[in-house]
Amino acid sequence: MTRKQQRIHFAQQHQTLLRCPLCYEQVEVNEASMVCANRHTFDFTKQGYVNLAPQRTENLYTKELFTARRMIIDSGFYTPLHQELIKLVADAKVIADLGCGEGTHLQQLLPEGALGIGIDLAKEGVKMAASYDNVLWQVADLANIPLITSSVDAIVNILSPSNYKEFKRILRADGRMIKVVPSENYLYELREAFFPDKSPYSNTTIVELFEQQFAHTKKITVRYEQQLTAELMRMLVDMTPLTQNVASVQKAQFIADKIQTITLEFIILLGEN
Ligand SMILES: [Zn+2]
Repeated sequence: MTRKQQRIHFAQQHQTLLRCPLCYEQVEVNEASMVCANRHTFDFTKQGYVNLAPQRTENLYTKELFTARRMIIDSGFYTPLHQELIKLVADAKVIADLGCGEGTHLQQLLPEGALGIGIDLAKEGVKMAASYDNVLWQVADLANIPLITSSVDAIVNILSPSNYKEFKRILRADGRMIKVVPSENYLYELREAFFPDKSPYSNTTIVELFEQQFAHTKKITVRYEQQLTAELMRMLVDMTPLTQNVASVQKAQFIADKIQTITLEFIILLGEN
């Protein structure tokens, strides 16, 4: 069986969760595509994902960026964060990672036997993510999620924008929302090197908005330091949105300084629907 056939077979087992992004009708998975009652058709790609937002083009995030991101995640950069998140999704049967990028976060968190759904508008990310099994991988708009109402036990949303109206729609009545946001000292060494005069990053607005949207909210702080090789440091400096407007010469200087330790600090925001 090819990977595409495997992914189609897997999607057929879970097709009752899917809905058409154009007319919101229920979707069936046939031998090559997702098709709704109104015959809107979305084909599986050979990589095994489905593009449910083909009219949208997202070119900001390139294959190079996702390759760098995967190497950094594979190096263990986020492992202490993953360890916390694994506890929070351990009993979930259906977990959606909204803004899944190249998919490694979800792959690392997914409990055995659970269904993962990974959604991102960035096609290059989802294309790469589709190499991981046991997940429905979809290119889709987070403002129009192609899942039926009350279909998901837990949502994870890691360092990525949210659309709470849609998130709450797809979350079950007792479903759990888990959002990871950076804290003041996230990538402190980069902030210090590139923006020494800028006031510290604040996540207050994001936290307040989350607390307005969900019940029984909690905050978990995760803080650790990570050693990076010179190559991974170069990748980090290149991939983080933090440095996208920094001149290359300044980035090169930072890498030449051979700083090896990076501070990671996050807040996990936890809430119920
Ligand atoms: Zn349709």
